[in-house]
Amino acid sequence: MNDQTNSPSQKKLARLFVLSGPSGVGKTVLCNRIIPFFSTKLVYSISSTSRKPRENEIHGRDYFFYSKEDFESAIKQNQFAEWALVHGNYYGTPKSFLNEKIEQGINVLLNIDVQGAAKIFAEYLDAVTIFILPPSLEVLKERLKRRNLDSEKDLLVRLSNAKMELEQQNKYHHILVNDDLEKAVVELKSIFEKYI
Ligand code: 5GP
Repeated sequence: MNDQTNSPSQKKLARLFVLSGPSGVGKTVLCNRIIPFFSTKLVYSISSTSRKPRENEIHGRDYFFYSKEDFESAIKQNQFAEWALVHGNYYGTPKSFLNEKIEQGINVLLNIDVQGAAKIFAEYLDAVTIFILPPSLEVLKERLKRRNLDSEKDLLVRLSNAKMELEQQNKYHHILVNDDLEKAVVELKSIFEKYI
């Protein structure tokens, strides 16, 4: 007898969900709001970075913080599914976590920049990609200023990179404007529900 319940065609495969968009657009807040809706079915991929931790950031919760040298040696050891230099610092997605979760049938949410996203699209063909847009560049500038996390120089770098990042939006499956946070959460949730 055919056991249909175990047939591979019926097994729902886990996917990667990639959230990209310029710095200050609210990606991390959106990730934190989305994860609880899907409890055991969706996990956040904690990235590694050579950026210095900000006040309130914790190693292993927000990022894995490494020195530039340690990050470069991890690159050589092929430990990242993707990595990129973003605003002058290294950022990368640990490969072992990603593959382990996918094998367990758990979807993974990546909060990464457009360069890293391009590498993920090329390797993980069924990844679902979502681009978060600010209502305008002016609003983005205000949000970055209000966040007050970066030096004036960093802020200018982030803003000038934003323009380049915005040009990539049409490469994504979904585009979402983060104008009103509650509205954006509802819209993002409905995108995830199409797949999970
Ligand atoms: P922040 O320094 O503000 O935490 O992050 C700066 C940028 O790096 C954000 O756009 C964020 O999405 C991106 N980023 C964070 N983790 C990764 C990662 O693992 N890989 C890549 N390519 N970008 C990342």
